[in-house]
Amino acid sequence: MTRTTPNYPSTQLFIDGEWRPGREGKTIDVVDPATGEAIGTVAHATRVDLDAALEAAERGFATWSETSPFERYKLMRKAADILRQRADEIAQAMTLEQGKPVGEARMETLAGADIIDWFAEEARRTYGQVVPARAPDVTQMIVKLPVGPVAAFTPWNFPINQVVRKLSAALAAGCSIIVKAPEETPAAPAALVRAFADAGIPAGVIGLVYGVPAEISEYLIPHPTIRKISFTGSTPVGKHLAALAGQHMKLATMELGGHAPAIVFDDADIDKAVKVLSASKYRNAGQVCVSPTRFLVQEKSFDGFVDAFTAAAKAVKVGNGFEEGTAMGPLANERRIPVLESLIADAVEQGGELRTGGRRIGNKGNFFEPTVLANVPTDARIMNEEPFGPVAIINRFATTEDAIAEANRLPYGLASYAFTRSTETADQLGKRIVAGMTSINHNGLALPEIHFGGVRDSGYGSEGGSEAINAYLVPKLVTLAA
Ligand code: NAD
Repeated sequence: MTRTTPNYPSTQLFIDGEWRPGREGKTIDVVDPATGEAIGTVAHATRVDLDAALEAAERGFATWSETSPFERYKLMRKAADILRQRADEIAQAMTLEQGKPVGEARMETLAGADIIDWFAEEARRTYGQVVPARAPDVTQMIVKLPVGPVAAFTPWNFPINQVVRKLSAALAAGCSIIVKAPEETPAAPAALVRAFADAGIPAGVIGLVYGVPAEISEYLIPHPTIRKISFTGSTPVGKHLAALAGQHMKLATMELGGHAPAIVFDDADIDKAVKVLSASKYRNAGQVCVSPTRFLVQEKSFDGFVDAFTAAAKAVKVGNGFEEGTAMGPLANERRIPVLESLIADAVEQGGELRTGGRRIGNKGNFFEPTVLANVPTDARIMNEEPFGPVAIINRFATTEDAIAEANRLPYGLASYAFTRSTETADQLGKRIVAGMTSINHNGLALPEIHFGGVRDSGYGSEGGSEAINAYLVPKLVTLAA
């Protein structure tokens, strides 16, 4: 699909059922990462807008929590259908603001519709419990109630996906929600919210704001209206926001950074491992929290794996997301280029081998070469800090124990991958890798019906499966004597 929409839509705030500019009239420029040119603006919320959004969320909660799960389900399904109908147009805006290949932007939008559908269905299954009582005339019920208005903070790497998981789960549970969506990629999340608005969501149930992230989170999280926080982003910011939530006794879901190990054993289907892992590595230019990063390859297969993976990296077509055949677009933010360059330079200084890539491509747009580093010492920064870019680090290991020890060395624990034909090894990995998710012999993560989340410094809570809707519900005991 080539570019068909000439105009990039400038984005407004959505407060109390209305699209409107910020009260103080401030805007922020949106830049096309493929050209470095400003393509539009996004409205900037200040305190007065946030107060209006909070008041609306309070009223929205009163309306929506009283709306039956069946009615919520119908409205959500309608929004999902609208999103599907608009997928081509939304994908165009997403590629312009984020850079990813337009086919991927379209798939993300369609996957967003599937996520809405799944949570809509799940809304009808938020069962409670009836617990046998000690006395014959007593009925004890545990019901699940929506926690209250939610504040959600989402990043720029998946402009729709990051919002839709929080939004759908909160709405399915009966909560209202204020989303602080990414200033870098505002139009796609706004299109998602517009699908709900056009489906008839009552005023105040969804609020959408942009602005200075720290100012907005510092105001919304402690605010008495907000009862639940959900954040996706980096570990340092997540720790700060989780502390703030704790201080004000707010429930929180934290989906933070990772440094995913990918362990390839000698008994694995090596060709399949190269194919699956290289596609995962360079998807979205590596700007994915579950991106495989530390590749650990068993001794006998090491040289062959590095060669084949390097060939796969060299074959990745980097370019404008609208060009036919582009597999990898630019980095979404220019600020990531010096970060990646310095991580790679440090790895090489410490003795790591640069097999391919390592540099910016050209001087217009944030294009970066798909990069492979091999034999990188554990002390190198890139072995410890999340690169969040198109860089694979391939090191060797001898025994299963060594591989598990390296996999668990870092404080992160989000995704992990392994390739082996041994069921015994697979069983060991499933139990002993300390991570929220382990995918063996394929990339099987991130479907709406399965758990998605991390442990340790990668955060807590879930954004998939029944756990994800439970994150917006609180149990209440009702005990009744006849
Ligand atoms: P960053 O830490 O500045 O920001 C990460 C995200 O958090 C952004 O969306 C930003 O708007 C938001 N944010 C920052 N400070 C905030 C605050 N005080 N309150 C509320 N939101 C706040 O980093 P960046 O340069 O945008 O991205 C690079 C790093 O972020 C990566 O290394 C990666 O770890 C992390 N990240 C993770 C994900 C993910 O999917 N888990 C997505 C994007 C970025």
